[in-house]
Amino acid sequence: MLNASLRELSRLLAEKKLSSEELTRYFLDRIERRNGELNAFITVDPERSLTQARRADARLREGRAGPLTGIPVAQKDIFCAQGWLTTCGSRMLSNFTAPYDAHVIERFDRAGAVILGKTNMDEFAMGSSNETSYAGPVRNPWDRRAVPGGSSGGSAAAVAARLAPAATGTDTGGSIRQPAALTGICGIKPTYGLVSRYGMIAFASSLDQGGPMAKSAEDLAPLLNVMVGFDPRDSTSLERPAEDYTRLLDQPLAGLRVGLPREYFAEGLAEDVARAVEAAVAELRRLGAEPVEVRLPNTRLSIPVYYVLAPAEASSNLARYDGVRYGYRTPEYRDLVDMYEKSRAEGFGAEVKRRILIGTYVLSHGYYDAYYLQAQKLRRIIARDFADAFQSCDLIVGPTAPATAFNLGEKSGDPVAMYLSDIYTIAVNLAGLPGLSIPVGFGADGRPVGLQIIGNYFSEARMLGAAHRYQQATDWHLRLPPGV
Ligand code: GLN
Repeated sequence: MLNASLRELSRLLAEKKLSSEELTRYFLDRIERRNGELNAFITVDPERSLTQARRADARLREGRAGPLTGIPVAQKDIFCAQGWLTTCGSRMLSNFTAPYDAHVIERFDRAGAVILGKTNMDEFAMGSSNETSYAGPVRNPWDRRAVPGGSSGGSAAAVAARLAPAATGTDTGGSIRQPAALTGICGIKPTYGLVSRYGMIAFASSLDQGGPMAKSAEDLAPLLNVMVGFDPRDSTSLERPAEDYTRLLDQPLAGLRVGLPREYFAEGLAEDVARAVEAAVAELRRLGAEPVEVRLPNTRLSIPVYYVLAPAEASSNLARYDGVRYGYRTPEYRDLVDMYEKSRAEGFGAEVKRRILIGTYVLSHGYYDAYYLQAQKLRRIIARDFADAFQSCDLIVGPTAPATAFNLGEKSGDPVAMYLSDIYTIAVNLAGLPGLSIPVGFGADGRPVGLQIIGNYFSEARMLGAAHRYQQATDWHLRLPPGV
């Protein structure tokens, strides 16, 4: 059961060899036993999950089931789910029960999936290590001294330790792909605009994108089928004909041109990660793909550009947390302004405050042109690099993160070192492109290594197909952390 694919679970449910209630209980039991040490979930509510499971069982009996009916899915605590505590990893929302469903939650609900619980995350999705959550750090199932990556670290740890068959994440600068890489699982950030941001608590709206996290590329496809869809309540949601993301899973790799960006294999990449990634590229070549060298010359600009734009958008998005309408309010205050100030001072953690300060600064009169506008221009140039690269290749592959998981506390005192863990993922968000990470081996420390596959706009099905072919020929995605 631990390594069963979603398709296998779905078949067991359809054939009545297993009920959704049994399946949900199985994972709730695993959470009960293991969550203490991993801290992957902020909220579990067995009664609520089991009620949903029983509803799914009724649907299965009536023959009205789809591929995800009855499947328990862990939801990142950034998605509002009606009646569920939805904290976004922040003290600011530590008392917030969502009064409505995010579009993503609605779609899972309509598909008959079960919410298995809400997963831990960096506060407001700001971080690469899951150490900034008010609910405490998440631990990496491969080595409990290590971080699971962030900000979707709770979802990643939950899938890696098989506390959930699948989960959701969000990715603003790498938060699906980097934790997937660091915990040996798969995750895809779709093309910007495919997954509605309605009810997904905003960090940096022009970059935020939800996506699935699971054991295999094959499992990501049906999850993506549910998550993608037009939503008029998100002004950047794309209206396109529905696609079936499973349709290219079995397409052979023959003739596929995979671009290797020289800048992704340069200084800063750990040798053991490079070795695992090169072995994966060799495997892709053996399966028929043709490696070609490409250039992404402005890669080094992506971190500075992101750390102007993302904080600018965050400072605006987070202005709504004022202690008045919902969320944390300081218990004692003199007047309105004192109440605002204390509520924000006490409700937000250090990293969130740092971003609000940077964002407010770069948007202020006199600095706007020098920083914000300049960063917007560079964002266009970074996107153009990818467009040029896709002239000579179909997919781009490289490392997801420059090194394997670091230890808890190792980078918390040095924000810039932390920011550098997203060097290969951030440009993809700036360009709005889809990015996938799959496990391809282990580093010298025995911690997982991820391969990133970047596609052109709307090439998710092709990316998943390439990953699935690789996973049919290898078994990295089936390896289990010690003790699991
Ligand atoms: N680690 C990056 C940051 O701290 C990206 C986070 C994300 O993708 N949500 O902003």
